[in-house]
Amino acid sequence: MTQEELFKNLIAHTKEYGFIFPSSEIYDGLGAVYDYGQLGSELKNNIKRYWWDSMVRLNENIVGIDSAIFMHPKIWEASGHVGAFNDPLIDNKDSKKRYRADVLLEDYIAKLEEKINKDVEKGRKKFGEAFDEEQFRATNPNVLRNAKKIEACRERMVAALNANDLDALKQLILDCEIVCPISGTKNWTDVRQFNLMFSTQLGSVSGESGTIYLRPETAQGIFVNFLNVQKTGRMKVPFGIAQIGKAFRNEIVARQFIFRMREFEQMEMQFFVRPGEELKWFAKWKETRLAWHKALGIGDEKYRYHDHEKLAHYANAATDIEFDFPFGFKELEGIHSRTDFDLGRHQEFSGKKLQYFDPETNESYVPYVIETSIGVDRTVLAVLSGAYAQETLENGEERVVMKFHPALAPVKVAVLPLVKKDGLPELAREIMSSLKYEYNCQYDEKDSIGKRYRRQDAIGTPLCVTIDHESLNDRCVTLRDRDTMQQERVPIEKLAEIVDKKVNLKYLLEKVR
Ligand code: ATP
Repeated sequence: MTQEELFKNLIAHTKEYGFIFPSSEIYDGLGAVYDYGQLGSELKNNIKRYWWDSMVRLNENIVGIDSAIFMHPKIWEASGHVGAFNDPLIDNKDSKKRYRADVLLEDYIAKLEEKINKDVEKGRKKFGEAFDEEQFRATNPNVLRNAKKIEACRERMVAALNANDLDALKQLILDCEIVCPISGTKNWTDVRQFNLMFSTQLGSVSGESGTIYLRPETAQGIFVNFLNVQKTGRMKVPFGIAQIGKAFRNEIVARQFIFRMREFEQMEMQFFVRPGEELKWFAKWKETRLAWHKALGIGDEKYRYHDHEKLAHYANAATDIEFDFPFGFKELEGIHSRTDFDLGRHQEFSGKKLQYFDPETNESYVPYVIETSIGVDRTVLAVLSGAYAQETLENGEERVVMKFHPALAPVKVAVLPLVKKDGLPELAREIMSSLKYEYNCQYDEKDSIGKRYRRQDAIGTPLCVTIDHESLNDRCVTLRDRDTMQQERVPIEKLAEIVDKKVNLKYLLEKVR
């Protein structure tokens, strides 16, 4: 099965089982907006809890806030979003399809990289044991030609983007002979800038003065509350402020399911440090954040850093944590060393001092900031695609199983009376009642036990508890493990402890410490 087919199956599966639905579906949907269903919202909540606890609970010097989506419009001038939160767009005149110019170029580069990898694989097959990949990459004429093309394209793209030179971007698309994936032609319009912020009117004031924006990131709510939190929480630098919340971007092209949405959620943390110490903290957060991802057990090889060579003018270090999505490695989280840019700008635009008096050095300064910024929805997609598996069992049966980390699984335990009579449902209900205060449990008495196991596999429930006639006598039940499908007989009075060991978020959090 190709990655593309796998991705299609995953999307269909998430809809069929109530994880994710297209928004407003009975009205034919709304572009790049999605709703989370009964299981998707549980999964999302578990991811958010994992992030929140790892930041706020485990670090005494990080606190969390929940700031409003609407903010004073001047904030977006200060942050640079009014002037520069733009994407370059280009239309194909034949297909009438719109693209992000930089994404067209990135896709072109990705195709060349794919060609190189194919050549390397061919070489590996041809030379067998004697194959030296490094030497092959350094000498093979095809590889060298494509590598040169990539380098030249990337260099020109970065220069054009940095200089905001839209003509140069178009020329590069023409020079690379990029065609529209739909029409196959090179009949392009000029490149134009498009601001990604949604605007609306505040109260009854119309016109310029009443225009406000739906926040395109949650970070600014943290910056403008910096002093409020520092003073009321008696926080000492270094300290962090974390926030989870909705953000809105009028993305030009929305593809790839919940990877790029127009309404999405972010988990951001701004860590305030002494000027001069930022790179040390940047390195620490880079490492900490990767460990957080890897603890989920999806596979270490699924993650990589992408250090930015060209930095925004206010940043002195930046990296992305990329995840190997079904459509290739793409940004999942950004970690940025943002200097004193944000607080400095708000100081300038608001006219209010945003400084910290450091009792250790007896100095006042505008702290430097390390930001970690991750999309909830992209994490959901990473977790879903990492969990999705189609398996053929020993008896030839097929099963689809979502191998979520147990701490993230939407349903932790399924409680299944073998038959719906003879007092088994009553005992099953008793077990449900003893577990449901701690964990999301599901009761199911319909269909054969085999079918019920398949249903629980499909939604990723780590444990199934089956109650049979014998249970009434020996007060033991059969516990089935989702991944190994092993079954064991356990006393009912031990259930709570066994379930806790398997699914409690605490054990996942301990791994990140
Ligand atoms: P991209 O280059 O993919 O557009 P970005 O660099 O603009 O992303 P940031 O501004 O750094 O993204 O936002 C931080 C995080 O927010 C991203 O790493 C991503 O996980 C998430 N994010 C950004 N835009 C979207 C979106 N349209 N839909 C879903 N998540 C998003």
